[in-house]
Amino acid sequence: MSNTASATAKNTDHNVKSTHASPLHYLMWFRRDLRVHDNTALAALCERANTDNAQVSAVFFLTPEQWQAHNMSLAQVDHITRTLPLLAQNLQTQLHIKLLVQVSPSFSDCIETLSDFCTTNNITCIMANHEYEGNEIARDEQLTKQLAKNDIEFIRFHDQCILPPHSITTNDDSMYQVFTPFYKKWRHTLEVSTIQIHKAATIKKHSNVDLTLSQDSANTIKEIEILGKKTTNNYQKMLQDSESLQHIDIEAQMTQAREAYPAGETDACQRLEDFIAEDIDNYDVSRDVPSLQATSQLSAYLTIGSISPRLCYLQAYKAQEKLHGNDSDNDDINRWISELAWRDFYRHVLVEKPELIRHQAYKNETDKNISWSYNTDDFAAWCRGKTGVPLVDSAMRNLNATGFMHNRLRMVTAMFLTKDLLIDWRLGERYFMQQLIDGDFASNNGGWQWSASTGTDSAPYFRIMNPFSQASTHDANGEFIKTWLPELKDIPTSILHSEEKLRKALSKGGKFVNIDYPLPMVEHKTARQLAIAEFKK
Ligand code: FAD
Repeated sequence: MSNTASATAKNTDHNVKSTHASPLHYLMWFRRDLRVHDNTALAALCERANTDNAQVSAVFFLTPEQWQAHNMSLAQVDHITRTLPLLAQNLQTQLHIKLLVQVSPSFSDCIETLSDFCTTNNITCIMANHEYEGNEIARDEQLTKQLAKNDIEFIRFHDQCILPPHSITTNDDSMYQVFTPFYKKWRHTLEVSTIQIHKAATIKKHSNVDLTLSQDSANTIKEIEILGKKTTNNYQKMLQDSESLQHIDIEAQMTQAREAYPAGETDACQRLEDFIAEDIDNYDVSRDVPSLQATSQLSAYLTIGSISPRLCYLQAYKAQEKLHGNDSDNDDINRWISELAWRDFYRHVLVEKPELIRHQAYKNETDKNISWSYNTDDFAAWCRGKTGVPLVDSAMRNLNATGFMHNRLRMVTAMFLTKDLLIDWRLGERYFMQQLIDGDFASNNGGWQWSASTGTDSAPYFRIMNPFSQASTHDANGEFIKTWLPELKDIPTSILHSEEKLRKALSKGGKFVNIDYPLPMVEHKTARQLAIAEFKK
């Protein structure tokens, strides 16, 4: 592992060269990469600035309209706005770079603001890391053209993945459709090449520029904090009328998320260190038990970029060498690394299939042939955790209360919605984005299309999870269910794990008829057969 600041040729889109006379002023545009450590664009910009004796400023846009269009959860917006003052502080103390935070409601505003900003402040080069969603790509292309008119460079780097999109392909240079061969090649590539941690150098030329500000912007740490809070509050107001949030105590969800996810890269890196020291060596077994909380819970940080995925990989790889020497077949650490690879895989898929951003099914034929249900009562029961299926309901109530859901439960609840209720996966996909603190288009779309059997390398349509047997395997003592459904605390776990026994216990004449909890809304066996018949069709 090298600590140099240079961007690898693989990660760069353009040759980085200076074309303007001094005094030079460069700009780092932060997006989903809210960190100083191992930030590819930031490291490249600092290196070039020091070579050219240029000053550097940084900018981040708060884009409420865009967030709403992406169904971004309030918990995630709050996480971003809590992270910004810490980023500003790290930039100032470590690199001598000032961060300007600016509200820019829409995409077109953002383009105009950036070009004006560059002209006013004599900025000749902007660097940023790639974003892979369709709208973002279009915005960046538009901006590149606009800036070029004034001879301003806009250079982007691949930074969101451990290995960049298009770098892991089949022998005939096409995309892997199936994860396992992708993973094998991905691992092999990492083993035969060194991935770099990009360390940004402190800027030698101190900035003497007072950035030109508009009304809704901030450039001191205190102001950034205030503007962040104000923007979070305004976003909360924007969401107030959203129908799918009416049953949620959004304030309480945000408070829970704040406690569970302290902001900033220092906390994120500490979490990675703790996970590797304490939990990774049991990951393969404990990762499937929601009540243990034995996964890394780094997704919220990875999503907004306050931790680098390469750092995650390298630390896990080092732990593997330290703990197991040459036994590279250690299942626990390999399993965790393979989860990081799933994250890369879904991003690579999105770049290859940009139409996914319009919520098209990867398997087109499922869009044409499956008669998805749009039953609003069924959907509302699922959202509210009132389906009568304890594992599904406890998971949904946990999501609504905390803004997070364990991976096993995401699969169980998504399969229940798309197979037992045969509801269009897109409704579930949107609902998850509206709640999750780690909501991320590529991983969420990938997870939903996997569960709905409409995606690449997705679950076969006939392999439908039974939520009662899932509960018996993954919540054997009923701890998770009883934590989130306290009304069921007196019901023996063996009853909660059996649809038949639960129906009987809650029905007239049953021992628990007085408990305020609905009967299972569908019979799993019948629902499963209906779903299989629909897919066969
Ligand atoms: P760990 O088990 O510690 O894994 C480490 C990291 O690997 C995670 O932080 C995450 O970045 C990545 N990862 C793990 N599992 C997956 C996976 N199946 N697909 C892609 N990346 C993975 N993940 C998101 O980050 N955002 C989402 O919006 C999202 N939506 C999902 C929706 C559904 C229906 C499903 C089935 C999965 C979804 N996932 C999503 C993937 C996964 O559930 C979460 O990444 C994981 O639960 C986060 O917990 P963790 O950080 O403790 O993960």
